[in-house]
Amino acid sequence: MSEKMPAWDLNDLYPGMDSPELKKDIAAVSAGALKFETRYKGKLAESSPDEFGNSIEEYEKLDETLSRLYAYSYLLHSTNLNDPKISTFYQNIREKSNDVSNKMLFFELELNTMSEEQVQEKMVSPKAKNYEPWIKNVRAARDHMLSEDLEKMLHEKYVVGAAAWNRLFEETMASLRFNIGGKMVTEPEATNIISFSPDAKTRHEAGAEVDRVMKKNMPIFSLITNTLAKDKQIEDEWRGYKRPVSARNIENQVEDEVVDALVDTVVANHPDVSHRFYKMKADWLGVDKLEYWDRNAPIPGLPEKQYSWEDAKNIVLSAYNEFSPEMAKIGKKFFDNNWIDVAPKEGKMGGAYAHPTVPSAHPYLMLNFMGKADDVMALAHELGHGVHQYLARSQGILKSHTPITLAETASIFGEMVTFQYMLKHEKDPKQRFALLAEKTGSMLNSTVRQIAFHRFETKVHTERREQGEVAPERLDKIWTEVQSDALGPAVKNDERSSSSWATIPHLIRTPFYVYGYAFGDCLVNSLYSVHQEGKVEDFPKKYLEMLSKGGSERHQQMLKPFGLDASKPDFWQKGMNVIKGFVDQLEVLTDELGMNKNKAKQADNKQAAPVQSGMVKKVTGLKSR
Ligand SMILES: [Zn+2]
Repeated sequence: MSEKMPAWDLNDLYPGMDSPELKKDIAAVSAGALKFETRYKGKLAESSPDEFGNSIEEYEKLDETLSRLYAYSYLLHSTNLNDPKISTFYQNIREKSNDVSNKMLFFELELNTMSEEQVQEKMVSPKAKNYEPWIKNVRAARDHMLSEDLEKMLHEKYVVGAAAWNRLFEETMASLRFNIGGKMVTEPEATNIISFSPDAKTRHEAGAEVDRVMKKNMPIFSLITNTLAKDKQIEDEWRGYKRPVSARNIENQVEDEVVDALVDTVVANHPDVSHRFYKMKADWLGVDKLEYWDRNAPIPGLPEKQYSWEDAKNIVLSAYNEFSPEMAKIGKKFFDNNWIDVAPKEGKMGGAYAHPTVPSAHPYLMLNFMGKADDVMALAHELGHGVHQYLARSQGILKSHTPITLAETASIFGEMVTFQYMLKHEKDPKQRFALLAEKTGSMLNSTVRQIAFHRFETKVHTERREQGEVAPERLDKIWTEVQSDALGPAVKNDERSSSSWATIPHLIRTPFYVYGYAFGDCLVNSLYSVHQEGKVEDFPKKYLEMLSKGGSERHQQMLKPFGLDASKPDFWQKGMNVIKGFVDQLEVLTDELGMNKNKAKQADNKQAAPVQSGMVKKVTGLKSR
């Protein structure tokens, strides 16, 4: 690709890493934190309401400067990983920022030790009142806090406890090598082959090899899993969390019942959504049953389209514009002002992200644009984050952060709007089919698959608590059970893939995190279907208003203007219906385009050898629903 692609301009943060502006900020934040500590440490509960409000305002200002410094160094570093001068600069800023935030740590701790009455007394000051949502977030886990000594001890012990087991997991995974086609590859490389190799034989070889190596190392993975589950149980009991999922739910600002409703609804939709999809996928690949590792396999015979950066920009902005001209206007700023770093280059971090930086500046997007449909979607996703972060600036830095359950709303919505636009404007039915198949598969990966992970960890943690150590064979069995539920009868799911759970780092590193992906996806689907129904007046305006709330509201208030309530199962059903609708469309297109290889085979067999009726009968049974 010879097209010139823009790089970002970080001057809006600092003119350079040696600039006087940057040095001035470092000096200011160091002195400021010291002053802050002397002025407020140990005095928060006794301060007057106005002093209390002032202290938070000062805290926010320091946080803003610190975050600007940190964001600048991070952005610079992520596009120049091989530059030693920048690496040193990044490391220095990190250490500086650690020093400074250590001085400010007391503030949130003291906030947590205040009684509810004490906090309420301060709310007579309008300045303090303005920060109430942030105070609530900081104090969310307060009921589960232990005495200061115990907290300190747990904090210090963490490095030799959970952190050490996590490290053992990471180092073990990193040391594993997989022999695929005579070549020794790492785990990410092996996973990549499983997902993307167009050759079925290679995929199967890779799948079998991954399972063999994981099984060989199962004693260690099983020990890590059991130990971490026990560690969590001990801490949860001390802190008074009822269920294994509860601590995460509090962090995510969501009630246990809401997560239960999500899980139940997704599971109830398996037959109608994922089972049907994988049945179709088996037909597209022309096999009786899909191998476990063929779930994401490329569909043969589909043309792959290339997009220029200019195409991608026009598609995403036009899509945004069709939804809301206001949203497109904000999106356009990112292109007009060089807030996006587009092209892959030597020494640049992989993947893509949107960084909010600070409210007094603006967000930046980092991409690695290669011209695939996926890259257009990555732009739509990150620009969604960008618009969200841009709008949430009005809340100030403390109130702009959203919990993971809501943080992906704008990005997934941006993708959905763009996807619908591309689908509508795509003339080639095969391309439409490719778009739909890709989107549906990826939506199932974010919903059904993540909920299967969630059910796996729920069962493992529950059995660990109720019955003690969970044996490796039992771990494998739980995995196979939840996978069978999720994938359905058209996917082979047996002892040959039963150790795959050990390759999912989230299950080890961040227990009960994965449902957040399903939460975000289903929430956006519900929101989008309300938009499509057209019953909510001024939907786009209300949507942008919701984004501008940042982290200042919980999901209940956020969704109210749309007549939605996440504690109701029909909320999640609305979301699943969107995926179901895609599966319906795919079934129609499969017939129209003759994509069902099994059916085609059957027709061939009929012509070539009509006497082999046994064979024909068997294939007939595979016809799509
Ligand atoms: Zn995202």
